Amino acid sequence: MARYTGPVCRQCRREGVKLYLKGDKCYGDKCAFTKRSYAPGQHGQGQGRKKVSEYGIQLREKQKARRVYGILEGQFRLYFDKAERQKGITGENLLVLLERRLDNVVYRLGFGASRNQARQLVRHGHFTVNGRKVNIPSYLIKADDVIQVSDKSKESPVMKQMAEVLGNKTVPAWLELSIDNLNGKVVRFPNRDEIDTPIQEHLIVELYSR
Ligand code: SF4
Repeated sequence: MARYTGPVCRQCRREGVKLYLKGDKCYGDKCAFTKRSYAPGQHGQGQGRKKVSEYGIQLREKQKARRVYGILEGQFRLYFDKAERQKGITGENLLVLLERRLDNVVYRLGFGASRNQARQLVRHGHFTVNGRKVNIPSYLIKADDVIQVSDKSKESPVMKQMAEVLGNKTVPAWLELSIDNLNGKVVRFPNRDEIDTPIQEHLIVELYSR
């Protein structure tokens, strides 16, 4: 699946908010948004004065969600369609679907400093789900699934490095991390108030309902 490969920090500056796409760098002085919190490009500094339409606000919220989870437009629309078909509130369904992606779950468990890194770890085949190797970042986890660092990967330098910082991050209540076993269990799907992504999902629903 294709993904955005342009300058990462530019996306935060475009959305006017820190999206935490680069792991540790996002929390330090080197964060590009901390240094230049205006939109990128020649006219970036003047954009704060521009009046934004309702459509523009909705569009930005959707772009923000896409960027946080690293998803291209077509796939994002498929998630929305699926969320719409599910019972319950479409916007919340959408966020839960995004949270259920394997790369996100790996990130939430603390195996990657950013979703990008987690996605790369998944792609490189470092994890199994219920004992079977899964290297598809968009794989949707289910309740009771166990995500495990594969036996072979436990000895790899990158996973050893990961294991050292495992437990530094707060793991959400819908997941259970076992540092000793290098695995995580999906206890259940997250509730809306357990998803800390700064997204107003109702704006995305409004956008796609136009
Ligand atoms: Fe965004 Fe992180 Fe880059 Fe800061 S360092 S601009 S939060 S991706």
